[in-house]
Amino acid sequence: MDELFQAPDVRETLRRVWGYPGFLPLQEEAVRAVLDGRDSLVVLPTGGGKSLCYQAPAAHRETLAVVVSPLIALMKDQVDALRQNGVAAAFLNSSQTREQRALVVRDVARGRVRLLYVAPERLVLAGFVEALRRAEPAFFAVDEAHCISQWGHDFRPEYRQLRALRELFPGTPVHAYTATATPPVRADIVAELGLKDPVILVGRFDRPNLVYRVQPRTDRLRQVLVALERHAGQAAIVYCIRRAEVDELSAALARRGVKALPYHAGLTDDERRRNQDAFVDERVDVVVATVAFGMGIDRSDVRAVIHAGMPKSLEHYQQEAGRAGRDGLEAECLLLWSGADYGLWKSVLEREGGPPPGAVRKLGEMLGFCQDPVCRHRALVTYFGQDHAPGPCGACDVCLGEIETAPDGAAIATRVLAGVAALRGRFGAGHVADVLTGASTERIRTLQHDRLEAYGALREASKQDVRTWIDQLLGQGHVERSDGEYPTVTLTASGARILRGEEAPGPLTRPRKTARAAPAGAGAAERGPENRVLFETLRGVRRGLAEARGVPPYVVFSDASLRDMARLKPVSPATFLQVKGVGEWKCAEFGDAFLAAIRTHVAAG
Ligand code: ADP
Ligand code: ZN
Repeated sequence: MDELFQAPDVRETLRRVWGYPGFLPLQEEAVRAVLDGRDSLVVLPTGGGKSLCYQAPAAHRETLAVVVSPLIALMKDQVDALRQNGVAAAFLNSSQTREQRALVVRDVARGRVRLLYVAPERLVLAGFVEALRRAEPAFFAVDEAHCISQWGHDFRPEYRQLRALRELFPGTPVHAYTATATPPVRADIVAELGLKDPVILVGRFDRPNLVYRVQPRTDRLRQVLVALERHAGQAAIVYCIRRAEVDELSAALARRGVKALPYHAGLTDDERRRNQDAFVDERVDVVVATVAFGMGIDRSDVRAVIHAGMPKSLEHYQQEAGRAGRDGLEAECLLLWSGADYGLWKSVLEREGGPPPGAVRKLGEMLGFCQDPVCRHRALVTYFGQDHAPGPCGACDVCLGEIETAPDGAAIATRVLAGVAALRGRFGAGHVADVLTGASTERIRTLQHDRLEAYGALREASKQDVRTWIDQLLGQGHVERSDGEYPTVTLTASGARILRGEEAPGPLTRPRKTARAAPAGAGAAERGPENRVLFETLRGVRRGLAEARGVPPYVVFSDASLRDMARLKPVSPATFLQVKGVGEWKCAEFGDAFLAAIRTHVAAG
């Protein structure tokens, strides 16, 4: 019975409050689990719309939900976003004064709050527990629930305190949300939170709106610049492995006229906050960052995530690349890698007192992802245990035909291996490439390596091509890198077998020189030049409204809403309400400003 009338009801709330015409995949099931008073574990990819799963029931039933969230910075934005939809929300954390917190607790006690965001450590404080018991929350929502698991990539000890939740509030349902799909993490979450017979919902992990590209890193600055050019005027994040690279690259970009701010743990709190705010408030479009602090950088209209170095696992890659296109619109994820990244991570793991179990295997799987010229979407989802529709995805460099398999790959591999063998494991990949391409360096002359048979064996290739082939042979296990004082490359047993003709190497690839002209992915054509002008005008309106209210622009409207507006060109409140993301509250609050801009545009055009 319940099902029969609840469904249209919540949908009505969804339309009225959020202005969304329907649910995203599994959202409705997740909302139902909450309304039915069950426990649940909801695993949806980044951008899958996890927040709505607990926000919609609280708004719909007008009850109190307590949301556990790890990041103070994101709490405020979430609360601002809810308030812009007319939903009473508040947060409690250490950034507030005692008085501010007392006011929030009073509002909660009076039943005036629908969604209360708190940090995990606060939730179990004795005084707070008492206050909360009196307020009788309808349920708890634990966001980023993988933080409770040591198997996750972002374990936070304070999340362990949530074990107490079940005893402190025995009758209150608990719901957990995460984007981390691995089964051990899932099992850990259920056990640690003591979820009772939970509804478990696991979404599809593929992100069809992301275009993946993976390229050997040959000239970091140039490759990053070319990619950023494809997204001029749009939000982009560039990830580096080390802080020094962040500083270097952001300075180099700035010298080329790209306004980019650095973000890493070596900056003062103040600098970090300033740079993050500049990005979130759309005053700057590009942030160059280490991965450690990515979680605090939240903007749903990020159009490009560029990895200037290889991440240490596919879990990390999925998480970081997943920050692109959270609004569901097309976005690009470019990964620039080199075999040296593998060695770097390995030495980092070893320096940290021996790699944790599985870390080296994960690193190897990451390298495999970089090296194997197979569909990136398929490779990612199969890694996470899901299958992918057969046929080309149309949204990765492999399926778009941007990667060229060297037609004479076997011959090239043999020559590269012969070069590695000739140098007997005493030199690095750079010198091997110099010898093979027949370079005339002082080192080669002094060592008389120009007399080797391998000298100039790949004269027609560029040094960069040869470097990437060495990297690919490293990945295929035919060459190995020794991490002594100077990293050198040597032949492995299988490499020797190839030279003896007893085994065949795998295919070698190189990026097509024309890759840059390739389409930016499905939907790119959607935004014609005419709409582009209106879209930019609407962005300006949004920025003004956001500034006046002291909130980030995406809290006013997402890019997806602005595009819908630019397409529909509504000139009355009734048609304005049809725009995706326009609920009653936002229509009343922001309608006039946007409608005026659209009317002016229409009259002029
Ligand atoms: P997650 O936390 O899973 O990464 P979010 O909750 O931040 O995802 O939502 C991602 C984006 O999808 C946001 O821009 C949000 O406004 C949008 N969104 C969520 N639910 C819907 C829906 N039912 N219809 C349209 N857009 C939605
Ligand atoms: Zn593909």
